[in-house]
Amino acid sequence: MLHVGVHVSIGGGVDKAVDRAYNYGATAFQIFTRNPRGWKYTPLKQEEITLFREKISRWGYREYAVAHMPYLPNLASPDDDIYEKSVESLKNEVERAGLLNIPYLVIHLGSHKGAGFEKGRSRLIKAVMKALDEVDNNVMILLENMAGQKNNMGSRFEEIGILLKDLESYSDRIGVCFDTCHAFAAGYDLSTPEGVEKTIEEYETHIGFEWLKVIHLNDSRYELASGRDVHEHIGMGYIGINGFRAILTNKKIIKYPLILETPVDKRRGDLGNIMMVWYLSGLKPPSDIIKKWEEYIEKNPQDKEIFDKILKNI
Ligand code: ZN
Ligand code: MN
Ligand code: MN
Repeated sequence: MLHVGVHVSIGGGVDKAVDRAYNYGATAFQIFTRNPRGWKYTPLKQEEITLFREKISRWGYREYAVAHMPYLPNLASPDDDIYEKSVESLKNEVERAGLLNIPYLVIHLGSHKGAGFEKGRSRLIKAVMKALDEVDNNVMILLENMAGQKNNMGSRFEEIGILLKDLESYSDRIGVCFDTCHAFAAGYDLSTPEGVEKTIEEYETHIGFEWLKVIHLNDSRYELASGRDVHEHIGMGYIGINGFRAILTNKKIIKYPLILETPVDKRRGDLGNIMMVWYLSGLKPPSDIIKKWEEYIEKNPQDKEIFDKILKNI
């Protein structure tokens, strides 16, 4: 069984995100627990917490729900003010994920802003340790590989390996999220079966599958090693159909929650990407999922073409 879903909006209350995932026939999903583009947030209401928890257990998302940190925090920042605010945010998000019964919180590793990897490393490690020390719940913090942007931490697998070593004593609350677009943009070729094979080998050498908990499946708008973090619909970017077919037929990869993070546009909607993943995996979607797709497509015909293509193949 594939666990695949998209990043869903929490508009109207966090529990509404679970409805959205369910209506897509998604078997996993990701949310921001609050507006990701600001520092401010309001506490979660008891009612939405209760509803959220109820819905994720009822619909089988208990191990396949993911929270993502907001965008502004920089956990490797050399600036004290920004850094302290960022650590505070991290603590809040670990807490909020815990309240919602979400097992994983994905974090970006930040930018050292020119201070160098070593300086960034000690800041980032301290931030993560502090959040885990001070928030006593079961939420796991997942380090996400970055896209090779200037001064960013953790674009190379070696760097993530170093960070994981630093955090070894916290291993029950630390893991890794692997983003395909970021890896490709950072120079790991995922566009051919050979490239995928080689990238997996490097991943095993420097990081190891024992840390992997979640995969972000995104195609890349820009070419290999571009250093640019711009997501594209599955198969429409430089990783392409061949790359994703190799990724999605790999037994090591498809057992993890697969989260799609590509903004919807005229060319394709969220459901189109979910169906595309099933299609390229060659696996047969269960009939209750196909029924959900049918219902959804009736009201939102945008991705009907992919739907018909899948039906023809099963
Ligand atoms: Zn991310
Ligand atoms: Mn990602
Ligand atoms: Mn990204």
